[in-house]
Parts: sequence; C-alpha cells; structure tokens
Amino acid sequence: MGKPNPCILCNTLEFRPVHRKDQWQYLCCRNCQLVSIHPRPTVQMLMEYYRDYLPDRPADISKWEAMIQPVVANSADMIVSRSRTGGKKMLDVGCGYGFLLNEMQSRGWDVKGLEVSKTGRDYTRSKWNFQVYSHPLETLELPENTFDVVTLLYVIEHVFDPLKLLLKINRILKPGGLVLLRWPHTTPVVRILGPLSSKLDLYHTPYHLYDFSPKTIERILFKTGFESVETLIGGHTLPSDRLNRWSSRIFGHLAQLLFSLLGGKVLLPGVSKTTTALKP
Ligand SMILES: [Zn+2]
Repeated sequence: MGKPNPCILCNTLEFRPVHRKDQWQYLCCRNCQLVSIHPRPTVQMLMEYYRDYLPDRPADISKWEAMIQPVVANSADMIVSRSRTGGKKMLDVGCGYGFLLNEMQSRGWDVKGLEVSKTGRDYTRSKWNFQVYSHPLETLELPENTFDVVTLLYVIEHVFDPLKLLLKINRILKPGGLVLLRWPHTTPVVRILGPLSSKLDLYHTPYHLYDFSPKTIERILFKTGFESVETLIGGHTLPSDRLNRWSSRIFGHLAQLLFSLLGGKVLLPGVSKTTTALKP
C-alpha cells in the first residue's frame, strides 16, 4: 500500500485509519476530518464495479422504489421551497431508475437525468421517456448557466473527483441556482459500533470513496463556489442539544444496522443528510 494522496479538501498528509477491509482503508484527515479511501480505486475499476451495480429484476426495482420514495418526496419538497431562480429546469445526476425525475415532472418541472449504469438509464428512458445522459458529468459538453436545480442523491460519496464535479455543476447552474446533495454520514456510526462496524462494512467498500460530514460538505461547497449551505437530516434540522443529537445518531445506527443485516446496500436512511447550496 503506497502513501496516501493529500486530503482533497485541505491538502494535509496526516490521517488516522477508521476502517479497513481487504486491501482498502478509510483514512480520516487529522486537519479537516474528511474521510477518504486508500488506495483510491482507478476510474477503470469503478466503471467495472458499477456495471452490475443496479439490480434489473422488477421485484428488486420495486423494493428500491419503496426505500427511496421518502427521500424522493422530501428532496422534491426541498427543491420547491429552496429554489430561487423562478425557472424549472432540473438535472438529476445519478438518476438511477428516474424516480426523482418522475416526481419533479409531476410537479411541473422540465427534467433531464444522467446515469452511468445502463440498467438505470434503460429503465428511465423506457418507463418515462426522459432524456438521460450516459457519460459522467465531468466529461459532458453542456452550456453554462442552463439549469435551475442540479440534484445528486447518494452520488457524491461515490465520485472520483468531487471537487471537479461540483465545479462543473456550478458552471451549468444559472446564477442563484440550487444544488441538492443527499449523502450518507457513516463515520459517527462506525465510531459508536467500534470493532463490530468492520464486520458490517458500513462504507460499502470500496464503493464509497469519501465520507462527508456537515462540516466537510460545507467546506467542499464553499471551495467550489457555492454559498448559503444548509444541511438537514431527513427533513428535520440538526437537533441543537447534545442529547437529541446523540439519540438521532443511535436511531440512525439501528436503521443502518438493519439495512446491513437485511443485505441493504446504498440507502442508509437513519444517518443520511440532505444539503442544499446556491450558486451566487
Ligand atoms: Zn483535510
């Protein structure tokens, strides 16, 4: 195992390990607390992993829909209440089977998707006839100042270069445009569970390349030109007193444990958070 790359947020080279599985390690930056995988899988490896990432059996897709539906409804409400531009053009990056696109279209929005998984892309196109880009956003030629909203549900933790992706999103958003990110916050749970967490592999190794926190997600959004960053858990603001915050983590951990034991993969509702930010 070679030396880790500098932290993408603060350039520090000091880390402490928080999780290990096979040849992979998760390292927490001692300066900014961003957690990242080491060594980083190559883009080619990732492409291979993701080829069979989304299930294509109808029964599995229904299960997926049931799991994601509360997140979709909640995200849609947040888009409507927080969007400032007055326009209704939206891009969902990593649109999966298109459930958020469908929800937003039913609310009168003009929607496009992007999905690198062929399974998700084919489903979204044939089921709802939405336009779905197939290439990663970083390599896609899109005009500047185009979208009112760009969404990423359970995407940012999988991305090879999240800074580059967010810079691109900033460019294609209109001034005042909104980015909405839904992301798992795994590291506190790993801390609570201690040695047990290594058996559960809550980072879904090596799919999660990063584990963000409200602080690190704010920092990366500021760094890529966004402002007015706000983070919520499941539609509720972070409880302010310590006891509430603690209990929400405990409940998060139970939900997550259950998902792991039941073979759940990506969706970790108890500890996930939603963050929005605006392009100035
Ligand atoms: Zn750092």
